Amino acid sequence: ASLFSAIDMAPRDPILGITEAFNADKNPAKINLGVGVYYDENGKVPLLSCVRKAEAILIEQAAPRTYLPIDGLASYDAAVQELVFGADSVVIQERRAVTVQAIGGTGALKIGADFLQRFAPGAQVYISDPSWENHRALFESAGFVVNNYAYYDAATRGVNFAGMLADLQAMPRGSIVLMHACCHNPTGADLSAEQWGEVIAAVSAGGLIPFLDMAYQGFGAGIAEDGAVVRRFVAAGGPLLISNSFSKSFSLYGERVGALSVVAASADEAARLLSQLKRVVRTNYSNPPVHGGKVVATVLTTPELRQLWEDELAAMRVRIRAMREAFVTKLKEKAPGHDFDFVRQQVGMFSYSGLSKAQVETLAREHSVYAVDTGRICVAPLNAANIDKVVDAIAKVL
Ligand code: PLP
Repeated sequence: ASLFSAIDMAPRDPILGITEAFNADKNPAKINLGVGVYYDENGKVPLLSCVRKAEAILIEQAAPRTYLPIDGLASYDAAVQELVFGADSVVIQERRAVTVQAIGGTGALKIGADFLQRFAPGAQVYISDPSWENHRALFESAGFVVNNYAYYDAATRGVNFAGMLADLQAMPRGSIVLMHACCHNPTGADLSAEQWGEVIAAVSAGGLIPFLDMAYQGFGAGIAEDGAVVRRFVAAGGPLLISNSFSKSFSLYGERVGALSVVAASADEAARLLSQLKRVVRTNYSNPPVHGGKVVATVLTTPELRQLWEDELAAMRVRIRAMREAFVTKLKEKAPGHDFDFVRQQVGMFSYSGLSKAQVETLAREHSVYAVDTGRICVAPLNAANIDKVVDAIAKVL
């Protein structure tokens, strides 16, 4: 037997499995609503103008490709802090926030998980039920026991807020609570501003460690609006971790640009904390890649490019909302007995459609429309050219 002969096949990634089935489908009119990627009105993943302009500047500079510092490009980390906390934040003024460039939002979560495993090793981790499918695996791979807190209520198609609050109140002190800052993936159901207030109070009272995952800032109500929850957690005091990603908001998926920010109690504590975060990075991949971080830093710190980005992000947000509206209106005509109004209330790229596993299978088999078997659909691939086909197909399987 060879050294590796007893190794089992690892389970397939459920979402990548959909993409494989989609790629194998010969129907030219096939539609993939399974992935978490934004497509424009022409069905293409956009290359934003602000990114192209920043890249033109960078090519002109022809800078050598030396290593970045372990914690990443300083101008990038500073720009991320201003975006995430707000430029006038006390944690920036008091040097209590530390930010390290990360390999996408996933890399930021992993640095955070590895860091917490060193300094809060016995803590329980809690994620929403359901959550992004990689959350559990990431924290388990860092050595944590991962539990769920109540979140989605299939009956109301909204948040089971009483259940969530009760679960928060029952968590042992020092537990790590992972929350989606906005645009909850996979459900599209977010907390209201009032509900966030109650969650923040429960987290403070219970001595919990909040970890906000912000992968979709700007896809909900706006950049500042979506980031408001971070500022509210900061105002409540206590430790706070935030992972953020520019994969979606800059359409820079493959460049792997994200960051982990941590709020400490003092500048001195922050300096020690940063040294330990750097140790985690150093022993994983030494330092992050240059290109994506430079592109994002250039856009965020050049006023004209920054404005362009905000406009381009707003256009993505507005188009997604228009597709939600059209989806609901058209389904009302095609399937009058069914109420899909909740799709209008949902926020961000995703929607728990309420379709069953069997219905999702029929959609793929008979109509070449692909979705996740939990009923999650991504609204972003919908456009004027394909929405009627999708709505017709859904009306047929209902
Ligand atoms: N967190 C959530 C909730 C996500 O949906 C995603 C991506 O789909 C990520 C994190 C990871 O982002 P990235 O692709 O930048 O690693």
